[in-house]
Order: sequence, then C-alpha cells, then structure tokens
Amino acid sequence: MRLDAKIPGGSLAEKWDRHRFELKIVNPANKRKFDILVVGTGLAGGSAAASLAELGYNVKVFCIQDTPRRAHSIAAQGGINAAKNYTNEGDSIRRLFYDTIKGGDFRSREANVYRLAQTSNAIIDHCVALGVPFAREYGGLLANRSFGGTQVSRTFYARGQTGQQLLLGAYSAMMRQVAAGRVTLFPRREMLDLVVVNGQARGIVVRNFITGDLEAHAGHAVLLCAGGYGNAFFLSTNAMSSNVSATFRAYKKGALFANPCFTQIHPTCIPVHGTYQSKLTLMSESLRNDGRVWVPRNPGDRRPPHQIPESERDYYLEEKYPSFGNLVPRDVASRNAKVQCDAGKGVGETGLAVYLDLQDAIKRDGKAVIEKKYGNLFKMYEKITGQSPYEAPMMIYPAVHYTMGGLWVDYNLMSTIDGLFVLGEANFSDHGANRLGASALMQGLADGFFIIPYTIGGYLAGTPIPAVGTSHPAFQETIRLAGASIRKLLSIKGKRTVDDFHRELGLILWNHCGMTRNNSGLSQAIEMIRKLREEFWENVTIPGSEKDFNQSLERAGRVADFLEFGELLVTDAVYRQESCGCHFNEAYQTEDNEAKRNDKDFCYVAAWEFAGDNKPPVLHKEPLTFENVSLTQRSYK
Ligand SMILES: Cc1cc2nc3c(=O)[nH]c(=O)nc-3n(C[C@H](O)[C@H](O)[C@H](O)COP(=O)(O)OP(=O)(O)OC[C@H]3O[C@@H](n4cnc5c(N)ncnc54)[C@H](O)[C@@H]3O)c2cc1C
Repeated sequence: MRLDAKIPGGSLAEKWDRHRFELKIVNPANKRKFDILVVGTGLAGGSAAASLAELGYNVKVFCIQDTPRRAHSIAAQGGINAAKNYTNEGDSIRRLFYDTIKGGDFRSREANVYRLAQTSNAIIDHCVALGVPFAREYGGLLANRSFGGTQVSRTFYARGQTGQQLLLGAYSAMMRQVAAGRVTLFPRREMLDLVVVNGQARGIVVRNFITGDLEAHAGHAVLLCAGGYGNAFFLSTNAMSSNVSATFRAYKKGALFANPCFTQIHPTCIPVHGTYQSKLTLMSESLRNDGRVWVPRNPGDRRPPHQIPESERDYYLEEKYPSFGNLVPRDVASRNAKVQCDAGKGVGETGLAVYLDLQDAIKRDGKAVIEKKYGNLFKMYEKITGQSPYEAPMMIYPAVHYTMGGLWVDYNLMSTIDGLFVLGEANFSDHGANRLGASALMQGLADGFFIIPYTIGGYLAGTPIPAVGTSHPAFQETIRLAGASIRKLLSIKGKRTVDDFHRELGLILWNHCGMTRNNSGLSQAIEMIRKLREEFWENVTIPGSEKDFNQSLERAGRVADFLEFGELLVTDAVYRQESCGCHFNEAYQTEDNEAKRNDKDFCYVAAWEFAGDNKPPVLHKEPLTFENVSLTQRSYK
C-alpha cells in the first residue's frame, strides 16, 4: 500500500487556498441528497455536524453520553491558540507553525501544520460570533496568556473552562440544525463497527445503551470524531468514557493507525493518591504562566514547603531551561519531574510529586488578580486535596493526557478507507510526537468548522457512490458479528472484573511505555499484554444481560479493544528506535538527557495495517519532508 498524503503543490502559504479552489464543490441543491454520519459530539464532531448541516447535508450524529454537551471536550481548561498577535509580541502564522512543528519534534507534516496555523485566527472570530465568552482586556480586546513551548502569549481562554465554553458554542450551532431538521441526534449510542461496502465507508452499527438493541445506519460518508485513547493507561485525565473502540474497529476494517506510541503525558496533574482511584485530574498548564516548579535541593528533605528556604529549593526548570523556564513543552517538563522524583527529591506522601508554587505571583500581583485568573482551578485543587493553593504550593505529577497517535489521514482528513474521514484527537493529528498546550481545541475546531466542509465536498462530488441501504448484506453481517462478540463476552462468567483487567493493562503501559521506555521493558510489556488478554477472554466477569442498560458490558467491549490496541501501541514504540518528543527511549538521549532523534532512519509517520487476528500488523511509512524548516535538535535552553 502506498500512502498518499495528497499534499497540494505550490508554496506552503498557498497550498490550502489553491486546494480549496481545486476541490470539486457539491451544488447547493444536491447537498441534501447526501447523508453524513458523524460519530462524536466533542469539538471536532459538534463543529463538523453544525457546519455540514448548515451547508445543507443531512447529518446523523452519534455519541455515548446522554447529551452531546458531555463530550470530553467539555473538560478542556486552559485555552485555544491563535496567531492573532493581539499582544504585539511578534507572533505570526509562521511562528505558530514553527512552534508547533518544533514542539512536535519534527514528526508532523509541514503542510497540515501550516494550514492549522492559517486557520487559527478564523476559529477565534467564528467562536466569538457563536457567543463564546472569551476573557477580555479592559479595552475589550480578547485577552491572551502563554502556554508551554512558545515565547509569545497566543492562548485565548475563558477562565479555566475554555473547553466548556467552546463546546457550548459548537453545540448551540449544532442544535440550531437539529431544530431545522438537518441534524438528527442519536445519544447513548456506541459505534461498534464500521460498515465498508466495495471499499467505501457506508455506515455504522451502534448499540443503543438503553435497549441494548443493535442499530444500523447507512450514509454516503462517515466522520469519526471519537476522541483520543489515553484511557488505555486506565489512569488518565480523560473522561471516563474516552476509548479507542471506534478508531480501533475502523483499523480492523482497513484504516491504518498512525504513531500509536505517541502519548502525551501532562506534567501538572494531581498525583495518584490510592490504589482504587479511577481518574486523574489535570491542573491546567496555564498555571505555569505564574507558577514556579520546584523540589527540595536535597534528596529526602521531608520538611513542609514553607520551612524550606529559597537557597535550598531547586527551581530545576528555570535553571536548566532559562529561555522557556517553567513554560517548557509538556514532554520536557514531565520527564524532568520524573528525573527529580527518581533522584529522591519528590515531595508528598508517595515522593511522586513536585511543587507548583504560586506564592511569588500572589505576593507580586495580589490574591484578587490570581483568583480572577485561576480561581476555579484553585477551588478544584482544594476540593480534591483539602489544601488551598493560596496557602501552600500545589503538588503535581505527570499523567496521561492526550494522544497524538490516531487513524492516519491524508490532507483531506480522509483515512485509508474511502469515505471514512477522521477529525480531532481521533486522527493522528498535526502535533507530531508532542502536542503543544492549547493546540488540540484549535485542531478539533479547524477540522470541523474549516477543513471538512471543503474536503468532504471534494470527495462526494468527485466519487461515484452507489445507493446502499441497511438491508445490504454487509450491514446484516456486521450486526451479526457485533452481536456474537457481545454474547461471547457475556458467556465468559469468570472471576475478575473488567476494571481489574483495565487497571493491570494501564500499569503495564505506564511502567513500560510511559514517560520513558527501554527495549527490554517494551518486549516484556508485549508478553504481559498478551497474557493478560488471554486471561481476559477466559476469566472476565460481566454481570447483567445484553438487552439492558449494562455499563459493565459497555466497558468490557472497550477494555477488550484496549487489550489488543495496547499491543499495537507498544509494538510501535519498539519499532521507533529513536527518541522524539513524548517517545523517550532511554537508549537514545543526548549528553544532557534530551530526546535524541534519528532523522536519517525515522523521519516518517508509522502507519500500521491490521493483518488479521493474532498476526503481526504491517508497518507502512509516510516519509516526512521538511522544505520550510530545518531539522534541528530541539532546545528550550
Ligand atoms: C482535562 C483536560 C483538559 C484539556 N484542556 C485543553 C485545553 O485547555 N486546550 C486544548 O487545546 N486542549 C485541551 N485538552 C485536550 C482536548 O480537550 C481534547 O483533545 C479535545 O477536546 C478532543 O476533542 P474531540 O472532539 O476530538 O473528542 P472528544 O471531545 O473526546 O469527543 C469524543 C466524542 O466521541 C464520542 N464517542 C467516542 N467513542 C464513541 C463510540 N464508539 N461511539 C459513539 N460515540 C463515541 C463521545 O461520546 C464524544 O462525543 C484537554 C484535555 C483534558 C483531558
């Protein structure tokens, strides 16, 4: 299989404009003849459904939750980037592009990242028009703050609830189309499989959570906007229902899965505090604008923070990276926190935490100013830990947060299955081996509001798509197989709960394919995952029945997929014999312990093809060419 990214010709700045002109357009009167299925109602799915319906297509939208408003995007806190340069610090589309390419450690496509930067400003204008209440300066201009890996303030925000406000904007736009009859909503539905007819994605099979019924839906194209798979690690900052099932099942139907080992570990999360915890909480990166990260200079120093004098504190990020200081990118900040804790300088009961201290900022700016910026985050921290960040530094530790890997897509966001488009966190995205903060919301909304409305038209207008309904044998066969798989799970009646298996898988991935990896740990992980998967299919217990509201059954299906996908994730890490961004293989580091890339052998997107059950997946490589930036050793010093 040859991977054709379909990157348009012309100069970087002209590619998107030229492509939009060259793409075929569906006549307005013909748009209503096309049915589009959208899986997911986060920022990517919600914005896509709203825009496509606004254009006149018939859209059916599916989500797991009882309402689209509960998609995981609602949890996003810190902000969304755009190259508006309101702060006059020298920002530009070119700088946002460069920061993103460098932040991703040169493992993303130039053309896609440039388009993302070009689109960023329109996203902000569009969201303001939808009524998103971004923070403003006194004079009315939208306010900005900084995020990691950049030296300008370009992050637009709505306190610590940016995702919520953006999602309400996209949701309102979508609901307008529900009222107009062009969007039909299907909440509490989980996509169990993709239906492919003659090589084209023509529909999906979903399970209705309330009745347990399997339903088939046919369309002319399918958009997967199902979010990221960070929950493979069990403990993560993701919403509990975030999963890999929709994308993994599409992978098994022929869509290639790209860079599955690229998992973002966010440096500032509330540390794990018990074995029975099922969720981790993020403390937004925005806090690193004013917060200083430190540990006691002497290993084993157990004094409370206020008793440790300045001279005995190690502000290790500020010392090691004077240019970027506390705002180094996430992969760098996370690894450094681990290094400090491994050296015995970690704080808190477990020793697996570092301080994020806003005391200097409170002294400098006053409590009222800090409260205005971060008040809701402080409240959340206090509610969970019982400690007020106004009085003592927060304790934080890295946690799984985002996945740069996902289904491979070309410049049109189409996967290797014709008619299957993948948007938002579910695709392998524009973020290479490490996403910069506040860029996921930008990408999800770019995909949904500004890219798919053009590229889907090009596909629909330029491709013969014969009439196919749900009575087609492919639908009936997919329903049969989905039902058989559910009944097989229910028939096991073993002794271990679904969560127990999931927790063990998470620990394997975290310990062997987490912040750092080494070759022997990776090989062990593959063996451990295989054994665990075998045991799952013999010993899992799932109470309840098929035709019921059955959350254990729902989770079992997702964990079964994580158990297969986990092996793919680790396999990808084994093949990538270099360190880049989040993928830090201990064998490849510079003298000062930074990730050491191998551009000669690994400057490619690794796209994996499913070869059949119990067969090794096949690796395909999309070479990455850089014509507009030079590949350098990433430095934030
Ligand atoms: C705590 C937290 C804070 C964050 N803060 C920021 C931030 O400040 N700025 C930033 O840029 N990024 C942030 N991110 C990342 C960002 O929130 C996500 O990357 C982004 O919201 C993903 O949007 P999405 O539309 O791709 O997917 P999601 O919002 O995850 O939506 C997925 C949708 O797919 C549906 N779905 C999933 N599987 C199925 C299935 N099988 N069948 C049917 N439906 C399915 C779900 O129901 C849901 O509707 C944060 C992430 C976390 C965890």
